[in-house]
Amino acid sequence: MNTIDLAACRDQDFMDAVARESGQDLKSCYQCGNCTAGCAYTEDYDIPVHQVMRLVQLGMKDAALSCRSIWLCATCQACTTRCPNNIQVAVVMDVLRHMARRAGHAPERLVKGFADSFLTSVARHGRVFEAGLAACFAIKSGKPLQDAGLGPAMLSRGKLAFMPHEPGGTAKAEVAAIFARFHSGAAEGEK
Ligand code: SF4
Ligand code: SF4
Repeated sequence: MNTIDLAACRDQDFMDAVARESGQDLKSCYQCGNCTAGCAYTEDYDIPVHQVMRLVQLGMKDAALSCRSIWLCATCQACTTRCPNNIQVAVVMDVLRHMARRAGHAPERLVKGFADSFLTSVARHGRVFEAGLAACFAIKSGKPLQDAGLGPAMLSRGKLAFMPHEPGGTAKAEVAAIFARFHSGAAEGEK
């Protein structure tokens, strides 16, 4: 039987950084699996979310940052609402995504490309512009016509709009301020 030397895998700096950036008490996770049971993406994840939490607890940085799951997470918060220990699991997943980017882990160009396209759309319009996102991602994917056949049906059912429907009032400026704060924080982190 193969054994794994957990002490040798343990990266304390990584564990501390995830705890600091997420503001969560990661030690309180007792691996009940409630988060995974409520996650709609478990079937598509390479590592279920409770095991991602375990990787973080064990300080297994490379395994946590190179998994596909962190890029598929939709930040739906189902895991967070189901956690009996009030851990903001979705925030931990978000922190891991940011860390993975900084560390140069982007296991799937297309998944990262979609995340980039989504955030660019929200930054530009204050909320996502679905048709623009689809067009942008189609170009990035190198297969611009792959899903083109879905367009007419979605348009006819009102699922896509030709023009962005930007939020009213100060909402767009508030979203822009969030992105500005993030970019200035990211620049600080690079110094
Ligand atoms: S629901 Fe909370 S305590 Fe349970 S495995 Fe997930 S993170 Fe850990
Ligand atoms: S936030 Fe992410 S990990 Fe949590 S339930 Fe939703 S998709 Fe799954």
